[in-house]
Amino acid sequence: MKGMKTAIWLLAFGSMAVLAAGAGAAKDPIRLLLLDGQNNHDWKATTPVLRDMLLASGRFSVDILTAPPKDAPREAWGSFRPDFSKYKVVLSNYNGQLWPAECQAAFEKYMREGGGLVIYHAANNAFLEWSEWARMVGLLWAPATYGDRVTVDREGKVIRTPKGEGPGAGHGPQHAYEVILRDIKHPIMRGLPLKWVHAKDELYHGQRGPAQNIHVLLTAFSSPTQKGTSTNEPMVFIVPYGKGRVFVNLLGHDQVSVAHSGCSALMVRGAEWAATGKVTIPAPRIHLNKK
Ligand code: ZN
Repeated sequence: MKGMKTAIWLLAFGSMAVLAAGAGAAKDPIRLLLLDGQNNHDWKATTPVLRDMLLASGRFSVDILTAPPKDAPREAWGSFRPDFSKYKVVLSNYNGQLWPAECQAAFEKYMREGGGLVIYHAANNAFLEWSEWARMVGLLWAPATYGDRVTVDREGKVIRTPKGEGPGAGHGPQHAYEVILRDIKHPIMRGLPLKWVHAKDELYHGQRGPAQNIHVLLTAFSSPTQKGTSTNEPMVFIVPYGKGRVFVNLLGHDQVSVAHSGCSALMVRGAEWAATGKVTIPAPRIHLNKK
């Protein structure tokens, strides 16, 4: 009988504990704003995949803000004034027209004061003419004349190539390729495998920009057999900006590659880090050899 009582008590207590954990997770989600609306990529296909992976982590609430389309009349931008201060982190799936000056200023203030920014794939192609944005993103899809380049040599040493020297932005044909962690102790990377084969995807090379204080977390070897640069290109990196944090993930050209277990782990953990400076989302199992 006593054993039965203990069992019932354990059952009740166990249920309460689960409820409490569930309530705790739901009580304090990280507010994330996902921006899209213009892109040379299929943002209508990738935004739902990004939203779903963020929600599945249990750590975020996600609002989606779709900017006016490219051919929208000027007035359409009049109401595009996101209230960034409501969010801990902004995820850009946007590559299009420059935001209104007022909106740029508000975003710079948000970041200076401790905001978070996640750059997803072609979002680093945007806004080359906006200098503070370039400082946030660090390395952008730009010609060699635009800024410095950062690569990692065979020994793992970061190499800086000055503006004007070497290749500018590009990529060869899509293929599956190996990615390698460059800082296993960083909160975003802790617990992930040292390397895995990423899904068939573009491998950006020759990215350019101010690259001030950028810290490389993940690279991929850009093979000459795939029209690459014969060096390790930074695929994932972080950039400080004022009191804010920027996480850049150049992987994930389409809805299939971004959903690869490794890429999605990086997206959600990177978003949490950009928002809070910490990572509590557990490292998932990653498919090491997906071709
Ligand atoms: Zn792409």
